[in-house]
Amino acid sequence: VTFSSFFLPSLFFGASCNLSPFTLILSFPPTNKNVIINHLYLPPVSYSQWEEISVMDERNTPMRTYQVCNVMEANQNNWLRTRHISREEAQRVHIEIKFTLRDCNSLPGVPGTCKETFNMYYYESNNANLWFIKESQYIKIDTIAADESFTQVDVGDRVMKLNTEVRTINNLSKKGFYLAFQDLGACIALVSVRVFYKKCPLTVLNLAQFPDTITGGETALVEVHGVCVNASEEFEPPKMYCSADGGWLVPIGRCVCKPGFEENKDMCQPCRPGTYKASATDAYCTKCPPHSSSPQEQATECICEKGFYRAENDPRSTACTRPPSAPENPISTVNETCVTLEWAPPRDTGGRGDIIYNLNCTKCSGDGKKCTKCGSNVHFVPRNFGLSSTTVLVTDLEPDSNYSFTVESENGVSALSPTPKGKVVINVTTSQTVSVVLKERRSKDSVTLAWQGPERPNGVIVEYEVIYYEKNQREQNYTVLKTRSNMMTVEGLKPGTTYVFRVRARTDGGYGSYGGEIELETSHEGDPNQSTILAVSIAGGIVLLIFLVTCFVVIKLPGSRTYIHPHTYEDPNQAVRDFAKEIDASNIRIERVIGAGEFGEVCSGRLRMQGKREIYVAIKSLKAGYSDKQRRDFLSEASIMGQFDHANIIRLEGVVTRCKPVMIITEFMENGSLDTFLKKHDGQFTVIQLVGMLRGIASGMKYLSDMSYVHRDLAARNILVNSNLVCKVSDFGLSRVLEDDPEAAYTTRGGKIPIRWTAPEAIAYRKFTSASDVWSYGIVMWEVISYGERPYWEMSNQDVIKAIDEGYRLPAPMDCPVVLHQLMLDCWEKGRSDRPKFAQIVTILDKLIRNPLTLRMKTDPSTPEFSVSTVDEWLDAIKMGHYKENFSSAGYVSLDSILYISVSELAKMGVSLAGHQKKILSSVQSLQTQGTHVQV
Ligand code: AMP
Repeated sequence: VTFSSFFLPSLFFGASCNLSPFTLILSFPPTNKNVIINHLYLPPVSYSQWEEISVMDERNTPMRTYQVCNVMEANQNNWLRTRHISREEAQRVHIEIKFTLRDCNSLPGVPGTCKETFNMYYYESNNANLWFIKESQYIKIDTIAADESFTQVDVGDRVMKLNTEVRTINNLSKKGFYLAFQDLGACIALVSVRVFYKKCPLTVLNLAQFPDTITGGETALVEVHGVCVNASEEFEPPKMYCSADGGWLVPIGRCVCKPGFEENKDMCQPCRPGTYKASATDAYCTKCPPHSSSPQEQATECICEKGFYRAENDPRSTACTRPPSAPENPISTVNETCVTLEWAPPRDTGGRGDIIYNLNCTKCSGDGKKCTKCGSNVHFVPRNFGLSSTTVLVTDLEPDSNYSFTVESENGVSALSPTPKGKVVINVTTSQTVSVVLKERRSKDSVTLAWQGPERPNGVIVEYEVIYYEKNQREQNYTVLKTRSNMMTVEGLKPGTTYVFRVRARTDGGYGSYGGEIELETSHEGDPNQSTILAVSIAGGIVLLIFLVTCFVVIKLPGSRTYIHPHTYEDPNQAVRDFAKEIDASNIRIERVIGAGEFGEVCSGRLRMQGKREIYVAIKSLKAGYSDKQRRDFLSEASIMGQFDHANIIRLEGVVTRCKPVMIITEFMENGSLDTFLKKHDGQFTVIQLVGMLRGIASGMKYLSDMSYVHRDLAARNILVNSNLVCKVSDFGLSRVLEDDPEAAYTTRGGKIPIRWTAPEAIAYRKFTSASDVWSYGIVMWEVISYGERPYWEMSNQDVIKAIDEGYRLPAPMDCPVVLHQLMLDCWEKGRSDRPKFAQIVTILDKLIRNPLTLRMKTDPSTPEFSVSTVDEWLDAIKMGHYKENFSSAGYVSLDSILYISVSELAKMGVSLAGHQKKILSSVQSLQTQGTHVQV
């Protein structure tokens, strides 16, 4: 049997030149890169029947095979052995053999000794140059049989069917091994032997690099520790297992990019300028927050712009902020020796929500030149430092003294800024107190009290009021007595009983509050009459001081002053002479035109009266060419105004009648008329400030109604506002309601009336009373809370009259506390006696100011709440969705980032409408306090 009978004849042909040697290939499957490491080593022919033969494969490529085919003879034992194969690092090596094997049945006449298998062995050795290995030294790998065998020789097709078998050797430990093939009488052609081992290839996972790793022996997993890639650090030690078949398993742990770097395709890249990454655990670099920048790559934080800062505890992701501007619109309300100071938050919060206020108090001399720090006897409620509210009550001031309070605003970054803190100064003069020294004389049923007049009375003392009650009955049952003298005998008292007496004085301005209590006991029945006069002096004995405070609030009592209508004067000029001071025109300096009145221009200027400080005044002049009647009407305003003296009524300084032009001089109100002022400052005041203004107007109106004066044209446009936000009632001309007011319209009865402000009975039958003024006051309240909105908007006068008659009333303005709207509705009661009196309104407003919590509940509690999680959702929820782009392009992408946004930032990004700014800021405020629930 020749080889030719085994193989297709053509396979043997043409195999003459350039034959590559039979190769043993060591390869790495993952890379498919084969490395030739060895030739098969053919032992001497004498020892083996294997032959190296060149054949052609099916693509006609010549190749070398080792063949043996001694089937005809028995007792075959032919060995073919390789050279030493280094195992490198592998413990587990795979051997893939390709061969053909002849089916014994297909060979005619072969004896029964013909085999269809052969054996494969290996021998492990450190020696790479063994020439001879004994048969018994080999370890058998397997007996190899063919899957495919030549059962048929198909010459025409030239088909050579190859068998491929793979076997594995485990747990190799020496430098290398030899492979051997043992033929025991088969017909074999060995086409290739490939020896390889498997590796887990170098890989990067979770930013950790795992090196090329050779698989372990048999089933063992190799534990491999990863190394963090450049610019990253271990978050949790990275680890993986290399499995026997070359795959990575069970990744554990990870690396993260260091601060200033972000992950990109298994690497850490530096953050680009304009972005930063503060912590290794942050996933990506993010845009610098507002007012900060990072000019260089790899920023771990953004640097604040000049003038902006980051407080120690500010997260680096929040905008840089700056100190707030000064508090605004300070108001002081003096009550005896107490003063309530209020102010509005700074216009620029600096972008922060942690504003606090600090108060400094100094007491100044009369000319304001010398000021000393207030002592510890002055008290601040709740306190003077670190205030978060915009109001403080200062108590225990000295009477009749000048104080200067500085309110300083500060936030979390003020300490970092070199610029001085924003501050506003409020100067206050406390009310004058009158001390009364008391003397007493007692009998069994009477007590005589005597007191000294005040040292520096605050006007002429009209009378004293003494109240007393039995000590053990407390104040439930007290008696009031009045006297013009400094002495009073209180009679009809019970013998041997202790009474409590208190005294207060009344000046032209009104009553002061009661002074301290004095307890006196009447003599017992049968006691000799005591007649004690306690001459009181500080050095000498008992000093009883009662501090009586005169407040300039007129309380209408029988006999108190009533307003006198100028028409009751036969000679109207006499009225002017009686109530208005004539001023020499040379004392007046006109500076600017500030408005237009019915009779001529209104200017501002200065008035300097002998021995007095120069003051700013408003000057109304009567235009040339006036008639007598016009002059009378013009001056009637002065003769009305001149009768009033109240902090909330515009004060008349005097008139110029002796030369032309005729002028009326009043105090100057820096902020002009209230309606214009509110429109200009839409949304900028706290509710307390608005209520403070309303309180002032109510107080002025109470004064007028106490004097039986009916205003008839009370409206925000007729209220003037000074620089301290004090509101004063003005516009007292006689003809004014009829002629001057542009709001006035002719009614069916012929009068001209400002319909929207006027009570229905006044419109219907000209019933003007203080109760109709109260109706108008309700409208003023509505104007104030809605920042100068026009009452009933664009409804026509006729529609307003009809709607009111049908019971319609103005709804609560936006953000209006429930109590205030209720008070408005009370003022708009149809029945005029059902409306509150101005005195009651003042009391109600005072209570509200003292308990600001009552103002918290806003109207329309049914407003829906939305839960939002993005800036866009939030803007949609508050119906400001059209600003989405403005916000996103200004860098406000997270809800966190908008928490400290300021008006100026809103304006910068294009939100310029005051109403929209207000809506957005008030929602931001509620986000700060309530989290992501947004009230719409
Ligand atoms: P009247 O004729 O009183 O309505 O005044 C016309 C306008 O002049 C008012 O609307 C105010 O803007 C201004 N005005 C009048 N009186 C004063 C004042 N005492 N201080 C400041 N502005 C005044």
